[in-house]
Amino acid sequence: MQWTLAARAEKMNPSVIREILKVTEKPGIISFAGGLPSPKTFPISAFADACAKVLREDGQAALQYAASEGYGPLREMVAASLPWQVDPAQVLITTGSQQGLDLLAKILIDKGSPILVETPTYLGALQAFTPMEPQVISVASDDDGIDVMDLAMKATLRQAQGERKTARFLYVLPNFQNPTGRTMSEARRAALSAKTAELGLPIIEDNPYGDLWFDAPPPLPLSARNPDGCLYLGSFSKVLAPGLRLGFLVAPKALYPKLLQAKQAADLHSPGFNQRMIAEVMKDGFLDRHVPTIRALYKSQRDAMLAALKREMPEGVSWNTPDGGMFLWARLPAGMRAVELLPKAVEKNVAFVPGAAFYADNADPRTLRLSFVTASVDQINTGVAALAAAIRESQPAAGVRIAETAGAK
Ligand code: PMP
Repeated sequence: MQWTLAARAEKMNPSVIREILKVTEKPGIISFAGGLPSPKTFPISAFADACAKVLREDGQAALQYAASEGYGPLREMVAASLPWQVDPAQVLITTGSQQGLDLLAKILIDKGSPILVETPTYLGALQAFTPMEPQVISVASDDDGIDVMDLAMKATLRQAQGERKTARFLYVLPNFQNPTGRTMSEARRAALSAKTAELGLPIIEDNPYGDLWFDAPPPLPLSARNPDGCLYLGSFSKVLAPGLRLGFLVAPKALYPKLLQAKQAADLHSPGFNQRMIAEVMKDGFLDRHVPTIRALYKSQRDAMLAALKREMPEGVSWNTPDGGMFLWARLPAGMRAVELLPKAVEKNVAFVPGAAFYADNADPRTLRLSFVTASVDQINTGVAALAAAIRESQPAAGVRIAETAGAK
């Protein structure tokens, strides 16, 4: 039998991270590679109670086919939880926010459509967008987020050519970004919001980590500033559990019917049983009690990783201090490549994700993503020491310098 693949299937790639996770599945490895929340944070007994209650009180509806829009009470809870005026009719419950990315790619991208992304950006979004064959344009970004001048240049340059080639949207993660952990400053949000409104450039705002702040909540979402110009994606994965595969999107009313049609084609609806369980767990303000425990845990893990990096890393390695979320972004000394370091690190039983995977183009080969949430503090200490040793061994000049210093004592 001769199977012929569609051109779009040829564009699909295995997720680099999933491939790396396979390498790191050797016993005893300390992994800073995964994007998984800490399983310690899953509220298992609350789910056990909710599961029994949903089956007892609403079992038939929970196990039946249901509306594509999602479970009404959950849509209402989502709308009420957001810091701007949202009509529950704008909320579409999705099978993880990853499905939201897939649906919007289907309704917003034609072959060759220019779309704008941060540098670097979330790999899973690139995976969702790529099969639709867009022209992905990376916008320069720094510690405060996207560079608004560069954005204006890249979004409008196309117009200057006389073609109708204005970017279809800008995809942006303002809070505790995956992969860098960085957060867009208030000033940058205000400037970005004003500039995109002026350009008529829609924003896709992805915010799965926004609730996981450590010392202070992040500034208001972009969607709160310009609801008609933004499509907002949220997730229950990081505040409750990813295994239930539930997220949501908030769409401007003009876009909602098309997203709903794409959703129907994809999976009819997200599991009604899971939606009821989440609604049951969340009622009575459960998240207000639960999420602070996740924040406290992740903050202590971040602090442990920062302290270990400071203690162990050779000169020339740099890293940032994320104010929330799950990831920290590091950069190797000049001349080193994270992809080449990875096998040496795995030999020493520690893994990370090379940053190159997260760039649409012009990757910085020196960068790497470290998750600080799944390893214990002991493992963080051991793992960072092993990573530092792998870096030193891959960097002969620095190794010699350290040996000389030690010898001089
Ligand atoms: N967006 C970002 C930025 C993410 O990091 C993730 C999860 N890794 C997702 C979306 C998808 O999350 P989920 O489908 O579990 O809601």
